[in-house]
Amino acid sequence: MPQYRKKPVEIEASQWFKNGDHPKDDVYRKFEDTGEVPTEPREGKIVRYWRRPGHGGEVACRHCGRQMHDHGWIDTLEGGHTVCPGDWIITGVKGELYPVKDEIFHLTYEAV
Ligand SMILES: [Zn+2]
Repeated sequence: MPQYRKKPVEIEASQWFKNGDHPKDDVYRKFEDTGEVPTEPREGKIVRYWRRPGHGGEVACRHCGRQMHDHGWIDTLEGGHTVCPGDWIITGVKGELYPVKDEIFHLTYEAV
């Protein structure tokens, strides 16, 4: 079989631990209705709050064991995705966003 190798591409990435950590979360953006600057951080624009209807969020995550309240939520090309604290948020070559586990990130990427 012919052999192929992935072309090296440069992506932007930032590690997420809590609301507001993504550089484009913009949690101190003005309120749309009043124009006021918030005194407390708002929900991130990129990594949003993890929430489920009828779900308290106290349950432990099956990936990291932390309660779901400590997690984020991101829209990817394949739909919404949970973000665990410590996951990296990658911005791909076409601007697409997706989370990657810390271990996989370090196996796959290096700083440029
Ligand atoms: Zn988790």
